[in-house]
Amino acid sequence: MLMTALGSVIGLIALVLVIVLPSSDETCETTGVLSGSAAPTLPPLGGESVGDSRAAASVTPSTTANPAVTGSPSLAAGVGPLRRTLPLETGTFTISDVFGSRGGGHKGIDMAAADGTTIYSVSDGRVVAAGPASGFGNWIVVDSVDTNGRAFSAVYGHMWDRGVKVRTGETVTAGQPIGMVGSAGESSGPHLHFEIVPGGRFTGGRQIDPMPWLDGAPTPDVGGARAFSTDADCVRGFGSAGGALADGKVPAELEIWYRRAGTVCPEISSSLLAAQAKQESGFRRGLTSPAGAQGLAQFLPGTAVSINPDDGKPYVIDADGNGTASVWDDGDAIIGQARYMCAIAHKIAGWMAAGRVSGDLPALTLAGYNAGEGAVLASGGMPNQVAAHYSETQPYVTNILSMEPQYRAPGAQGRFTPEQGAGGAQIVEAAHDWLGTPYVWGGGGVQGPSSGGFDAPGLTAAAVFAASSGAIILPRTAEQQWESGREVPISKMAVGDLVFSGFGPKGPSKVGIYAGNGQMIQAVPPSSSGGGGGVTEVAVPGDARARRVL
Ligand SMILES: [Zn+2]
Repeated sequence: MLMTALGSVIGLIALVLVIVLPSSDETCETTGVLSGSAAPTLPPLGGESVGDSRAAASVTPSTTANPAVTGSPSLAAGVGPLRRTLPLETGTFTISDVFGSRGGGHKGIDMAAADGTTIYSVSDGRVVAAGPASGFGNWIVVDSVDTNGRAFSAVYGHMWDRGVKVRTGETVTAGQPIGMVGSAGESSGPHLHFEIVPGGRFTGGRQIDPMPWLDGAPTPDVGGARAFSTDADCVRGFGSAGGALADGKVPAELEIWYRRAGTVCPEISSSLLAAQAKQESGFRRGLTSPAGAQGLAQFLPGTAVSINPDDGKPYVIDADGNGTASVWDDGDAIIGQARYMCAIAHKIAGWMAAGRVSGDLPALTLAGYNAGEGAVLASGGMPNQVAAHYSETQPYVTNILSMEPQYRAPGAQGRFTPEQGAGGAQIVEAAHDWLGTPYVWGGGGVQGPSSGGFDAPGLTAAAVFAASSGAIILPRTAEQQWESGREVPISKMAVGDLVFSGFGPKGPSKVGIYAGNGQMIQAVPPSSSGGGGGVTEVAVPGDARARRVL
């Protein structure tokens, strides 16, 4: 398959670069917002010391995720618990070689386990390599951002070809199965070679002993990539969570806080919080609403001091470390906004799982912030009980969701990052990230998938938005998208051109993205014969016409 081949080529090239380039040549170390002028006013990064027992493990076991949550992860900067699990389930492995053995040459740990034992991602992140790698047989590299803002990679080695269950570009969550233990490459028996690389495997980082880290130690600063760096060479998969904020879209002094707020929980991004703040206060300080809501995030005083069920602390905490937890402090208000949004999201996600509420989680979470989560539960979804739900809550949600893309970095949420001027190939690459995503009629748009998937124009809108760094916002239907860009003859069709088909009196009914060799990437509905549908590669149909939008 093309992606696997491409991924392995990238992986091999990157591996060679890591070996050849000394890490001191890395330019990533000095970039990134955390080392900028705002740094001295921030509380120390790094979280509590190793072994701090104040925070309990927070990853919810499920039937599919690894239940072997590591013990007592520490809080980082007070903004949220770490999300980590062991790479193999407790009881399925023994440590067969430790970090630093073989004269210091062993840069990870070896976990001996039966061939085929499930390997789990240890953290939320983005797959940046998945496939053949010298010595490892195959490897999987996942880039992540810790809650203390540090970038790190997790490396998994020795899987057989069939034991690599993720693709480059895919977003994974802590505890998600990603592969199976094998014995490929330089290996004398089935085992997982596992590394933790603060600073990033491809971005000048250095391996540390994974054992204390798996036990909850904060990710240290050993150089390499900074999370949320604006330097494309340093970013790779580190655009997740707080990196979702576009540069320069919020007042400069608030930017660091929205980035950090975006790391509080994976459900709530910094771009959503920024759009919400635009709606709440217009980023103006010192506001009190007629209803008594205060500050940047418009907290009611009673809500601000209410206890967050996620960690037992008030929603508004002393995030900026000035000794006072206050809705009037920028950092406290913004982190508090995120903590409250995350708590609402967690409650609503539980109701959704129980079938008591249906809809899109971000929309319902915003509705809960505005009308109270009780209104969401009572309505079984978007609040519809009283007049204010129609006149205030629903427009509030709509406004914020429509503003959110303006605040989102195009490569955000651990996804594809466009290169300047690389043209249509970028559209294909962006779409590749969503291969295998389910087909949902009316699903998707510039924000990515919605309601769990894409329809055809939803996918093209998402891919073109990402590839154009947010510059091109395609309309919602294939028919409307036919008005965008310019038509090119089929004989001149190039990778990344939009392929339209199913023409009727009003225009085309289908749209996909040309991927070369007569193939296109398209979100296709399940077939009448029972085929699954989803984002996939299909042949360009006979009646196709093409348009170029980038
Ligand atoms: Zn090893």
